[in-house]
Amino acid sequence: MDSSDSFSIAHNIDIEGKMISHKSIAILGAQESGVGAALLGKKKGKEVFVSDFGKIPDDYKNELIKNNIPFEEGGHSFDILEKHDVIIKSPGVPEKAPIVKKLREQGKYLVSEIEYGSWFYKAKIIAITGSNGKTTTTMLVHHILKEGGMKVGLAGNVGTSFCKYVLEENLDEVVVLELSSFQLDDIHQFKADIALLLNITPDHLDRYDYSLEKYADAKMHIFENQKLDDSAIYNSDDELIEKRKQVIKGQRIEIPFGGQWEDLQSNLKGKHNVFNVRCAVKIAELVGLEKEEIQEALLSFKAVKHRLETVAFVDEVEYVNDSKATNVDAVKYALGGIEKPIIWIAGGTDKGNDYKELFEEIDKIKALLCLGVDNTKLKESFEGKIKIIEEFTDTTQIVKRASELAEGGDLVLLSPACASFDLFKNYIDRGDQFEKAVFELI
Ligand code: ADP
Repeated sequence: MDSSDSFSIAHNIDIEGKMISHKSIAILGAQESGVGAALLGKKKGKEVFVSDFGKIPDDYKNELIKNNIPFEEGGHSFDILEKHDVIIKSPGVPEKAPIVKKLREQGKYLVSEIEYGSWFYKAKIIAITGSNGKTTTTMLVHHILKEGGMKVGLAGNVGTSFCKYVLEENLDEVVVLELSSFQLDDIHQFKADIALLLNITPDHLDRYDYSLEKYADAKMHIFENQKLDDSAIYNSDDELIEKRKQVIKGQRIEIPFGGQWEDLQSNLKGKHNVFNVRCAVKIAELVGLEKEEIQEALLSFKAVKHRLETVAFVDEVEYVNDSKATNVDAVKYALGGIEKPIIWIAGGTDKGNDYKELFEEIDKIKALLCLGVDNTKLKESFEGKIKIIEEFTDTTQIVKRASELAEGGDLVLLSPACASFDLFKNYIDRGDQFEKAVFELI
């Protein structure tokens, strides 16, 4: 019998010296993470109940029905939920949701989906967080380890939820987890053997009472529960991390943001990617890969889709899709990493942006083409600073206009600094439509 079986029979777990019963679990939120947790609980013999404030998407609902898991949608029944031993919170459920407050007031034990998955997982964990660069760095680490011949999994905020990954009983040596700050809230014993914190810049502040300090504290949870022999890698040029580093118990490994390539080569663009690559290389070294293996894998890694991805060259103009740049900091690095004159496509749903951060990069911007329903703030911020500013709500038209303005040697950059929900389904839809419009030029 392995230790996960003994968990499911014992129905309790020792956390910080306290025995927590988890014979019955209730899950808030029924999407990738919530349904993953429900399936894992069911497999481990728990009584499971799932509750979603909104409508549950059909795919997930069918999965619950198929597995005989009771659920409710369109609201939470407190009296049912409170009867369960442990409440598992999906990352999308905000702390300020009334049901969360009420369950806490009742003294219920709340855990994140990541925490719950960790109760049944025994292999090594590499966990990566940060405001920007998580997906790129997580996928790069996964790629290098895989190419280096390791049995390595990929889960968390990218692709499969951690609980689903654990459920499938992957016998990998190690899993690379991309974690958002929401996933790190309410962890109790989850521990990363290697944790990486890339940076902390304003994002998602609506979930943290508009406090950058609170958001930064949440990001530091990545180092929680680490022991002396675990590795804690972080950006030593990031003041918010530096200020908090005393909470780190693991072996500290500092990587400066402004560092050099040393003798490594990669195809990724931009100074931020130099940093991401150096972090990934450090992780690969820590798990024991040789320099040559790492270098070879670096060269076979392509930019992750929608992140500073060159879509095509048309009439010697380069078209770059950076649709995932949904905050100002990401755009700053995109602009900073490009030497060519830029036709910049930006806009969408503003998340409280301060565009002043970008002023030092605007000399190379020939035109700003706004792609959003309400572009007032964006326009006002750059009026008088960028010569040509025009507005669009259609991707084909905006790309066509960009192609008219661009001359050979220029670069057309979609790097919006905003969320996409005003005109698109999500950032993927925005990036896909941009690519399609670029291909139509050919
Ligand atoms: P995340 O998963 O954290 O959102 P991504 O890898 O998807 O990060 O990249 C999101 C955006 O941030 C892209 O526009 C990318 O070019 C930019 N970016 C990537 N790494 C960094 C970094 N280290 N610092 C700042 N911006 C970055």
